[in-house]
Amino acid sequence: MVKMKHKKIRMTRQRGVILEELRAVKTHPTADEMYEKVKKRIPRISLATVYRNLEVLCGLGVIQKLDITGRQKRFDADTSNHYHIKCIKCGKVDDLYSARPDAIEKAVEDHRGYEVLGHRLEFEGICPKCREAGGKEPDTQ
Ligand SMILES: [Zn+2]
Ligand SMILES: [Zn+2]
Repeated sequence: MVKMKHKKIRMTRQRGVILEELRAVKTHPTADEMYEKVKKRIPRISLATVYRNLEVLCGLGVIQKLDITGRQKRFDADTSNHYHIKCIKCGKVDDLYSARPDAIEKAVEDHRGYEVLGHRLEFEGICPKCREAGGKEPDTQ
């Protein structure tokens, strides 16, 4: 994950709105979901434009793209190195700040003598809301 904080970015209005909308949520939306949000503020924007701007913002390191299993890439305005957990019932993706990615890499380096360049770890589970709903049929995704 790239860390480039407080870098000066040339921000078009569209890009600014996309960034604002992503920063306003903790849901790790897909490009489609971002499009639905941004469209309310910029009705004439296209999905392709939203997608392109999300990619540009990723390239600049101000947002990150998540490698979470599923058909669509998800985006996160929090660029810190943190894990995610996905609910297998509703598809919700939450942040995990208690498990430390850097601690795991350090442990691997200490144990095997590798220089660790990165790793992927994805948690799956059933979110509190779905647990409460009990034996309800899983949503098809
Ligand atoms: Zn759920
Ligand atoms: Zn996150």
